[in-house]
Amino acid sequence: MRVTTAKASGADGRVFTVVVESLGTGVQRRAERRFTVPFSQLQPLMQTIARSGGRIRVVSQESLPADASASSGVGEQAAAPAPTPSPEAAAVHAAPTQPAAKAPVSHAAVPVNLYKPKDPFIGTVVDNYSLLADGAIGRVNHITFDLAGGDPQLHYVEGQSIGIIPDGTDAAGKPHKLRLYSIASTRHGDNMADNTVSLCVRQLEYEKDGQTIYGVCSTFLCDIQPGAKVKITGPVGKEMLLPEDEEANIIMLATGTGIAPMRTYLRRMFEPTEREANGWNFRGKAWLFMGAPKTANLLYDDDFNRYQTEYPDNFRYTKAISREQQNSKGGRMYIQDRVLEHADEIFALIEDPRTHVYMCGLRGMEPGIDEAMTAAAAAKGLNWSELRPQLKKAERWHVETY
Ligand code: NAP
Repeated sequence: MRVTTAKASGADGRVFTVVVESLGTGVQRRAERRFTVPFSQLQPLMQTIARSGGRIRVVSQESLPADASASSGVGEQAAAPAPTPSPEAAAVHAAPTQPAAKAPVSHAAVPVNLYKPKDPFIGTVVDNYSLLADGAIGRVNHITFDLAGGDPQLHYVEGQSIGIIPDGTDAAGKPHKLRLYSIASTRHGDNMADNTVSLCVRQLEYEKDGQTIYGVCSTFLCDIQPGAKVKITGPVGKEMLLPEDEEANIIMLATGTGIAPMRTYLRRMFEPTEREANGWNFRGKAWLFMGAPKTANLLYDDDFNRYQTEYPDNFRYTKAISREQQNSKGGRMYIQDRVLEHADEIFALIEDPRTHVYMCGLRGMEPGIDEAMTAAAAAKGLNWSELRPQLKKAERWHVETY
């Protein structure tokens, strides 16, 4: 592993020198070595040193020349090659098991429960359109609500959910309870005006006693017309927040409408208007595994294809089209089959402490993903049932399935 020569983030231009001994092997092991790196590279360097069995003697902050902190070249000037891990350290293979990078996801300033079911915010529908192409199965709509005028203003961040209380009453004559939906728009909303929220909703449909039953809230939402008023609660949820590190790697595993939070991450990373508004310039690797029954059921596919064209070094998009493609056993192609196909690359990424995995969608995908990860880990001599809780503890494994 090499310490990258990426620029220090605009938020922190500090540069540090780290003095290390007992690094490498043989004679080299006694030699003292110095590394000068920008703040953004400090933690990865520390982890590499720890893995290599090095002893850190001194960590000091450099004083910068007057214009250096503003210079885009700070990282390039200062970055040093990372130590080569010793064979012993490589054998330990400890990166994924060490939750060293604690709290990479900031929970500060994340709004929660601004509106509760007893006193919900009344939003107005501004848009409701189908996300599906001809020949798709079922109904999936993108629905946008105006949030302007609330006191407090209903705001949220990427990865959160809101509640919707559908109009009407249940069989017992009581008002319907709220249903939670993952938010599909970034904090700025699709129109970048900071006052809307969008959802991606599939109309629930199933057979019972020979009858077709439709979901109460999902049908209410898919049928709703612009101008209608809707009771909204929340926001809630801190499980699916994005790390702030612009060099994090983000692996996304989504089935169907579970794409909602992934759309928010990808817009934040790759939409030009978002990058401009946020000053957050994602430079890591994002990899979306998307499961859909048919090509016509792929959601936001044009946007994701565009991101791939515009950011080929930063975004990878792998589809599992279950009813059109077959896995190696001749069965339906699910995202866990794609995970197995790319197991080596996925594990190489997971070994990097800056990598996060996000899973959202059908609860049924969890055992399949676990099985695929178990097999992939075993091929590297690792035990997935031990690794997974450690990744979870390090806030690098994020799951929201229904
Ligand atoms: P969908 O369009 O039916 O697509 C789901 C895809 O996953 C299909 O290709 C399906 O294949 C495949 N699949 C089925 N069983 C699987 C398994 N065990 N492992 C892996 N893949 C499997 O999906 P959907 O109806 O939108 O469902 C999405 C789920 O996400 C729902 O349960 C929803 O509650 C949940 N969710 C929604 C939100 C939201 O805010 N909208 C947020 C979080 C979670 P086949 O059907 O061809 O077998």
